[in-house]
Amino acid sequence: MRLDLHMHTVMSDGEWTPERVVEAALDGGLDVISIADHDTTAGVPAALAAAEGRRLDVIPATELSSTTQDGRELHILGYFVELAAPSLEKHEKRALTLRLDRIRGIVDRLARRGVHVEMKRVLEVAGPRCTTLGRPHLARAMVEEGIVGSVSEAFDRFIGDSHEAFLPTELASPGEAIAVILEAGGVPVWAHPPHDLVEELLPGLVESGLRGIEIYRPRARSGKVAWLERLAADAGLLRSGGSDWHGPDRNPPLGDFHVTADEVSGLLAAGGF
Ligand code: AMP
Ligand code: ZN
Ligand code: FE
Ligand code: FE
Repeated sequence: MRLDLHMHTVMSDGEWTPERVVEAALDGGLDVISIADHDTTAGVPAALAAAEGRRLDVIPATELSSTTQDGRELHILGYFVELAAPSLEKHEKRALTLRLDRIRGIVDRLARRGVHVEMKRVLEVAGPRCTTLGRPHLARAMVEEGIVGSVSEAFDRFIGDSHEAFLPTELASPGEAIAVILEAGGVPVWAHPPHDLVEELLPGLVESGLRGIEIYRPRARSGKVAWLERLAADAGLLRSGGSDWHGPDRNPPLGDFHVTADEVSGLLAAGGF
């Protein structure tokens, strides 16, 4: 069985619609996928509908943004969440407005540094189905305006986490993000844990109810994978993995990377899958 438990759609900062992602996952030979858009589950129903009657299962998920007291961004995946859960709806609503305000803020900070991007262009790039605006939309607008040559150049030179124009999401603390997922009946999993923070922050997150960490990712070094597997085993945490696929401009085709049922068996069992 081939699984990819982390991908994005146009509902957040992915390039493709949920329907098209489902087709690409089937073409890529995947058996199980998770749509995990930033701070929303809006793409899940469309993906479930597109996969209906096909040889593909869709696990409902989301990837909540959180900010530590030091201003670091941590992403918490929520697997098997109930889509209509009040806690999630409340978080999504906040995310919708606060993410818009935040990108406006970053655009203002760029302007003060002589880099001019129109908010209208950013919203056009995001498109009509986007619910949660993110930096990749801004980066794509900067490419279209000829300010940078690529999305990664936009992050490297202007809007990466360490730049002056950057503003954190400030939607929730990591503990609050975990609570939102737990209240929605989901399984909270730390997405792509930064290697410099994992050992320091893991105990507190586990205390808050974290149940797993994302370990298997494209280009992950085998030494790091083994290290995270040991950390997970020691802390009694579930293991997850996925490509964090955003679209063909940024990632190899869906199916190039997959995890096995064995690698994520505990997580699947936790969701009654
Ligand atoms: P945001 O949620 O608005 O803070 O944006 C975070 C998203 O930006 C991540 O989920 C990635 O999709 C993207 N991203 C972060 N860093 C980079 C980078 N260096 N190059 C390209 N995309 C990035
Ligand atoms: Zn993203
Ligand atoms: Fe992420
Ligand atoms: Fe992601």
